[in-house]
Amino acid sequence: MVGKKALKKRIAVSQVAVIPGSFDPLTNGHVDIIERALGIFGRVVVGVLSNPSKSALFTEAERVAIIERQFARYKGQISVVSFSGLLVEFVKSVKSKVVIRGLRAISDFDYEAQMSLINRKLDDSIETLFLTAREEHSYISSTIVKQVALLGGDVSDMVPPGVVKSLEKKAGR
Ligand code: ADP
Repeated sequence: MVGKKALKKRIAVSQVAVIPGSFDPLTNGHVDIIERALGIFGRVVVGVLSNPSKSALFTEAERVAIIERQFARYKGQISVVSFSGLLVEFVKSVKSKVVIRGLRAISDFDYEAQMSLINRKLDDSIETLFLTAREEHSYISSTIVKQVALLGGDVSDMVPPGVVKSLEKKAGR
């Protein structure tokens, strides 16, 4: 049981939410989750994984720059920080207690549930919250976007306009 006083304290220190990911590159699905999180929390820190196990198309600096450009109008409310190492340590370093993840389909659930349980084991003061993807974004992943764009397909419905340009550059167009 959590006492009333402790609960109040918890809520008070939970005004910053962390949204971690590879963002290689940022998609409309990510943008939606980040903006919806900002509708709940006062401040959102987008944590860009600097050494994802998957080999990245965009460098860490490119991924950070794309996200910063996209959310430039939310200065002071959304910040973008790259990190490596344990997520719980990163969350603590930005004085947050909440991790937000997007859930696309039932298939995302197994991995996400495992990650949230591991993170709770490492630090049970940090909670993971899930926002379900909008139906129209539920098929979008960075992997699919990269595959289609590099083969010359149209991804303008899947990513912000700036990202379309960045992908065209990568594809040498
Ligand atoms: P990771 O490599 O850690 O899975 P991603 O960059 O793929 O990171 O995704 C970051 C976060 O955004 C994750 O919580 C992921 O579930 C969520 N996400 C990815 N694509 C979508 C989408 N189309 N709609 C909603 N959320 C998404």
